[in-house]
Amino acid sequence: MDFGIKHKHALICGASKGIGRAIAKELCAEGVKVFLCARTKEVLSETAETIKKDCPSAEIYFQACDLSSPDDRKQLIASVKEKLGSIDIVVHNTGGPKTSKAEDTKIEDWDSGFKQLFLSVADINNAFLPSMKERKWGRIVCVTSLSIMEPIANLSVSNAVRSAVTAMLKTLSDEVAPFNITVNCVAPGAIETDRLQDLMEQRTKASGQSKEEYQKQYVAAIPAGRMGTPEEFAAVTAFLCSQRASYVTGSTICVDGGKRRSTY
Ligand code: NAD
Repeated sequence: MDFGIKHKHALICGASKGIGRAIAKELCAEGVKVFLCARTKEVLSETAETIKKDCPSAEIYFQACDLSSPDDRKQLIASVKEKLGSIDIVVHNTGGPKTSKAEDTKIEDWDSGFKQLFLSVADINNAFLPSMKERKWGRIVCVTSLSIMEPIANLSVSNAVRSAVTAMLKTLSDEVAPFNITVNCVAPGAIETDRLQDLMEQRTKASGQSKEEYQKQYVAAIPAGRMGTPEEFAAVTAFLCSQRASYVTGSTICVDGGKRRSTY
């Protein structure tokens, strides 16, 4: 299938590893020029080299940026505009917030989760939406979590702030739909990445089970009977970034092997 986005320009956040890196690779394979950001320049450089091995003609720019920092975001936005001029596709993604029960979450942890998962999205959208509207084409995709449908124990900040960002993006999708700009979220269930490994280790310890026992029980709750790969997640995200997905907006698509228990 031709996704119809060759030569488009994409900004991919949190792109040095895991889900973000897989999305970057998938978009490069579609002939999209990409600008990657994450916190560490050296890791981004390695990521760009790895992608180039599979996609030698890929045009890849990158810059270190802590998405929680307004100053870093300002510099990122300026560099993206300098290198690529305009942006057609924005993929919002960043690290997961601290884990805690709602009753134990400190104000500073709510605050840092909001900065990282909500304000970064709003700020970057504000920077690139005007030119998408002018050119009457745009794709905004935000990586969220199944936690927006079913709160996950001990992930209070993720549950709350990702729900807030989903509501903000749904509101935005109404406003920009007439400009041929779609705004969607993709919610991972269990995708095999460093973040998931960290969470599994914490949960295994808390359960008192062995790693094997805990993992077996965890996977048994997934109808597909296994965790997903970053590549499976990236394929769905790339579709939402494509011309072919022009009539999908204001939606959350779950990539979860059937894990969510809600019907919708
Ligand atoms: P990951 O930790 O493997 O990768 C996160 C990426 O974001 C990395 O490139 C990291 O360098 C970057 N990053 C982290 N903090 C940043 C910051 N402040 N500024 C800029 N970049 C930053 O995570 P992942 O598993 O690929 O997941 C991506 C997102 O999806 C996370 O928010 C995670 O919580 C969420 N999620 C993942 C799963 C899963 O199964 N993997 C499930 C639900 C939700």
